[in-house]
Amino acid sequence: MAEILRLDPIRCDGHGMCAELLPELIALDDWGYPIITRGPIPDRLLDHARRAVDVCPVLALRLRHTSTTHGAAAVPTPAGAGGR
Ligand code: SF4
Repeated sequence: MAEILRLDPIRCDGHGMCAELLPELIALDDWGYPIITRGPIPDRLLDHARRAVDVCPVLALRLRHTSTTHGAAAVPTPAGAGGR
C-alpha cells in the first residue's frame, strides 16, 4: 500500500517548512504556499515526508494510505488545493 501527501489548503498558513524538508515533492508558489507533487511517495522519501508532516504547525499536511498506484487518482484535490 502506497502513501500520498494530502494538503488541507484551508489550514495551511504558508509557513513553508514542509518544502524545506521535502523539496523533492513540495515546491512553494509565489505566496509561499505548497504545491505538492501528486502520486505515491517513493520509499526513499517516506522518512522525509513524515518529517515534513510532523513540522507543520497547523496540521495541514497529512500522509494517507492509498491502494492505488495511479498518481492522478491518488490525490483527490479539493478546490484550490496545492495551488493558491
Ligand atoms: S503545509 Fe504546513 S508547513 Fe507546509 S506551508 Fe502549509 S502550514 Fe506551512
